[in-house]
Amino acid sequence: MKKIPLIRPYLPPGTKERVCAVLDSGYLTEGPVTKEFENVFKRYVGAAHALAVCNCTVGLEMALRALGIGPGDEVIVPDYTYPATASVVDIVGATTVLVDVNRDSMLVDYDALAAAVTPRTKAIIPVSIFGNPLDYGVLNALKAKHGFAIIEDAACSIGAAVNGQMVGSSADISVFSLHPRKFVTTGEGGMITTSHAAWAEWMDSYKHFGMASGTVAREGIVFQRIGTNYKLSNILSAVGLSQMLIVDELLNRRRELAARYDAALVGVPGVTLPKTVAGGRHSYQTYCVFVERRDEVMTRIREQGIEVQIGTYSLHRHPAYQPGPRCRWAGSLANSIWACQHALALPLFHEMTEAEQDCVIEAVKTHLLP
Ligand SMILES: *Cc1c(COP(=O)(O)O)cnc(C)c1O
Repeated sequence: MKKIPLIRPYLPPGTKERVCAVLDSGYLTEGPVTKEFENVFKRYVGAAHALAVCNCTVGLEMALRALGIGPGDEVIVPDYTYPATASVVDIVGATTVLVDVNRDSMLVDYDALAAAVTPRTKAIIPVSIFGNPLDYGVLNALKAKHGFAIIEDAACSIGAAVNGQMVGSSADISVFSLHPRKFVTTGEGGMITTSHAAWAEWMDSYKHFGMASGTVAREGIVFQRIGTNYKLSNILSAVGLSQMLIVDELLNRRRELAARYDAALVGVPGVTLPKTVAGGRHSYQTYCVFVERRDEVMTRIREQGIEVQIGTYSLHRHPAYQPGPRCRWAGSLANSIWACQHALALPLFHEMTEAEQDCVIEAVKTHLLP
């Protein structure tokens, strides 16, 4: 039987021509194609600024630096996420505070988050996990009360929205991933969006070795601050641009396939579907259900040649995230463990056929365990 992958990148017609045009131009590093990619991206999410970076993880780290977060500051992060969300907090010298997630949505538990705030809380990094959008009504109310900044780990969430407000336009800074596991990909890459001009300018400088941007730059290169190199090349930008130009088509196909999964699996005893906030539009970067005895079910389905996966990790169960001077667990993390043990990610990719999807649905139903 033909194997069914979890995800397969879709490179629209014209991608190779775009990449070859860059190669022929001789302008391989960051340049005009990167700029065009950023412009298309910021218009799509409705943010004033977009900065392409070499991956989402350094984008998150740079966002923390832009806000001046460092030693002595606390940053609250959900426990159920990819390690990158939390590791960047330690990388800038701040303290990671892990909180639980909501069992239905797998998003940060807003009450647990509020309870974890201290006078040292400078920022939170909520994650729109799997493309499930966060509730900014609640987050902004907490922000107004406590005064922290919101950096969204929007790695999975291109195209997700709540009541028409796109992910990428709600947080102070949002950071997207363009890794091949994500449905818009450059191989490796990331995109930062913000509507704060000063932070955008700081990050633009920092990712270009600390060069001054704007008027100073026109009078010759000036290194205004210590910086680094987090640029995304013209070559990779050409790959991303060709997908961003048809991003709604990509998103609609995912949502169509997700709706088919929903219809086939809703009400099946032993399968729990994930929940989206009222008015939310999920990007279905990852389509996850919850099942009992997930590991055994996963093995059995994989034996059919179908690449199912765990959802993501419960960070506090890993050696790197044990309590210490720079890591704190705030409250119970039981839902994170539950999600980590029960979530099953099903294959979903642009060119997936309905016949392939029916195979997956059949396999899930056949291999469920009580
Ligand atoms: C993929 C992912 C990342 C890491 O993105 P990179 O571009 O590989 O650095 C971070 N956080 C979440 C939630 C992710 O899904």
